[in-house]
Amino acid sequence: MKRDISAKLFIKAKKAIPGGVNSPVRACRSVGMDPVFIQRAEGSKLFDADGNSFIDYIGSWGPMILGHRHPQVICAIEDVLSRGTSFGAPTDLEVELAEMVISAVPSVEMVRMVNSGTEATMSAVRLARGVTGRDLVIKFDGCYHGHGDTFLVEAGSGVATLGIPGSPGVPKACVQNTLSLPYNDTQRLQEVFAEKGKTVAAVIVEPVAGNMGLVPPDLAFLKTLRKLTQGHGAVLIFDEVMTGFRVAYGGVQALHGIMPDLTCMGKVIGGGLPVGAYGGKAEIMSNIAPEGPVYQAGTLSGNPVAMAAGIATLKILKEPGFYETLEACSAKLEKGLKEAAEEAGISIVINRVGSMLGLFFTDKPVSNFAEAQKSNVNLFATYYKGMLEHGIYLAPSQYETAFVSSAHSNTDIEETVRAASKVFDGLGI
Ligand SMILES: *Cc1c(COP(=O)(O)O)cnc(C)c1O
Repeated sequence: MKRDISAKLFIKAKKAIPGGVNSPVRACRSVGMDPVFIQRAEGSKLFDADGNSFIDYIGSWGPMILGHRHPQVICAIEDVLSRGTSFGAPTDLEVELAEMVISAVPSVEMVRMVNSGTEATMSAVRLARGVTGRDLVIKFDGCYHGHGDTFLVEAGSGVATLGIPGSPGVPKACVQNTLSLPYNDTQRLQEVFAEKGKTVAAVIVEPVAGNMGLVPPDLAFLKTLRKLTQGHGAVLIFDEVMTGFRVAYGGVQALHGIMPDLTCMGKVIGGGLPVGAYGGKAEIMSNIAPEGPVYQAGTLSGNPVAMAAGIATLKILKEPGFYETLEACSAKLEKGLKEAAEEAGISIVINRVGSMLGLFFTDKPVSNFAEAQKSNVNLFATYYKGMLEHGIYLAPSQYETAFVSSAHSNTDIEETVRAASKVFDGLGI
């Protein structure tokens, strides 16, 4: 596969941008490679600067649930563009998207739009601290909530991939107010609440974890979390930035009927443009400025172009059968990969929830971060390179999730499984 143009661009990029990238995992360091530079995308495919094409399972790290350049989304964006790109004043589009979110996500009565998932989680935690008058935030090992100071303790995604425990530049005082516990460990949770429950401002959790690879929740764990936070006056925050409108139209909370106090959203909600949102009970949300004292603002928040892309995306997701079709396609991929690994005599574990899929090279179940870390990352790197060579574009780390979109065809899935078969055979020990 020719990569000359990408290689040249990367040399220039590294001089101008730290690490040559605007978000760390894109650099592909953990798999020992340089990134390919993408020129355009269409449906399930990406096309790079050297003219190679790939079946895309990153989907811009989650947002592209409809695939790239869905005609209805492009049309909605173009319609707004003809009227302007940003007004810094209220528009009907913001209200429309807010109402769609409220009717989709069961626990959300009011919602505030921001520009990224990071902004949503930072703001939700500030709100939780503001209304409880407490400082302590509990999170879980391997969960990623964006790059806010509070969350850079035992974090997932790029932080896990780079193998760093936290980050320089985060004040000690800040981290002292964050407690990170093992995911899915109900007993540990009960012990910590027995001791510190009354000082906890918020518990933030990925209700399906997608930033340590894919790790589904133990439902007893989520239910206990709900009970304990309620009993101790702490705010339960579901970080559904990845899972919202992805695992189901109403997110994980709709899937399992467990209701948080606040929900963070992002990714899919912006239809490929930069949008985040946080919402929840009106009683809590009404504490945000200008209605209440908790300050949060944004020059481009509720941007009309982004709102239009979000609205157009959600309209399609709402169509009957959308998630059923996506599920069938994702199940076919899971089955194909499992069979291919088995035939090659390679031990893998695939965790999947809907169109989110994580693949670990291990023979033991993966239900938390410690278990994910025991998987063979060297095999993963070889697998990644092999798949890329066959035109399959996966996330360059086992600590990320693969995303299937509605643009993936049966042929795409079959081609992917055929590629995996060859790559698994080559891994044979
Ligand atoms: C991606 C992600 C974030 C951060 O969102 P950004 O838009 O990258 O700031 C937060 N939480 C979860 C669960 C995510 O997957």
